[in-house]
Amino acid sequence: MISVNQAIAIVQNSVDPTSHIESINISKVHRYVLRNDIVSEINMPPFRQSAMDGYALCLHEDFTYKLVGEVKAGDPINPVLKKGESVRIFTGAPVPDTANAVIMQERVSIDIDHITIDSAVGINDNIRPAGEQVKKGQTALKKGTLLTPAAIAFATSLGVTEVSVYKRPSIAILVTGNELVEAGNSLEYGQIYESNAVMLTSALIGLGFNKITNYKVADNYKETLNLLGEVIENHDVILVSGGISVGDYDFVGKALRELGVNELFYKVKQKPGKPLFFGKKEKKVIFALPGNPGAALTCFYIYVQLALQKLSGNESYAVTRLKAKSKSKFTKKGDRAQFLKASYQLNGVEILDGQNSSMLHTFATGNALVYVSEECNSIQINDEVEVILLPIS
Ligand code: AMP
Ligand code: MG
Repeated sequence: MISVNQAIAIVQNSVDPTSHIESINISKVHRYVLRNDIVSEINMPPFRQSAMDGYALCLHEDFTYKLVGEVKAGDPINPVLKKGESVRIFTGAPVPDTANAVIMQERVSIDIDHITIDSAVGINDNIRPAGEQVKKGQTALKKGTLLTPAAIAFATSLGVTEVSVYKRPSIAILVTGNELVEAGNSLEYGQIYESNAVMLTSALIGLGFNKITNYKVADNYKETLNLLGEVIENHDVILVSGGISVGDYDFVGKALRELGVNELFYKVKQKPGKPLFFGKKEKKVIFALPGNPGAALTCFYIYVQLALQKLSGNESYAVTRLKAKSKSKFTKKGDRAQFLKASYQLNGVEILDGQNSSMLHTFATGNALVYVSEECNSIQINDEVEVILLPIS
């Protein structure tokens, strides 16, 4: 059995960015990852811009200036000012080449065709120089950048309309289990409602992955083998739920071996989520997650998310880890590393009651996991602990 850190390293080292690339209109690239640097074809801002509503000045010694005109945002004009002259100007308007400062209107008193400023103004005050954000020919956004609303807007402000991005993987979710019934139907004795498919789908959508197909199979070897074979053929990433443990009706491991999936690890020294399988068949990435919902979701956040990030070419986006003071006591049983469902606030982190791997209600009220390493046996109040913030979207 390997450690959590070994398992993370294996995922990290065995998934490469997809070679599938596409060019997409900028309006549709939210949460895609840039495949190429974006080099700016313009200066941004393109001209010297006023940062204030006020007056553009051609500075001289005196505090009084002659008012000779006006420039609004979008005006294609460049009035020529002599020393001691000023124009009314507004935020975003082009500052005349002959002006060397802008003063905010609150610092000015007006007298028909003259203005008087309240104190000295520095050269270039309140002027955004041309190319202040990025100059023509400079790299504006680097390959590997996650296209967030800000990144998309920045590229658009440079006139970019199409970007080259890593294609999103096609993801299959395959749930196994005779006991599973779709919500909306009535439960017979021994049955439970299937909830992992919608859980994993929501988690994927929250990360920006939207090419998702759901499959379901009974605990039957032949059916599992056939469906898994088909699913691996047709998708880039396969998330199997359940059937990977050691029960007599857990057929996923046997089917994956039979299908020639290369096992990169099976079983991690962790709680929850010990029976986690990770493998590859050529470029296809396959996780078999434990069926227990709490375990499946933990494994998703720690391992699947990492694999998807790497596959998507994303170089900056990672799970947020931080240190915080524990508001709770905890005593670990056994020597596996543990991920504890927790509630993180600025004044510390509370370890929640109900840590069983089947339990979703604690996950549903928490927003973080506390990581307890193999070596750590207990946590006292005010101990500094490692917190993994969960994306709760
Ligand atoms: P397994 O990993 O198949 O042995 O399942 C472990 C536990 O998780 C069992 O109690 C299952 O009933 C439960 N479980 C498995 N799959 C799901 C699912 N898709 N939704 C909800 N519970 C599940
Ligand atoms: Mg099962």
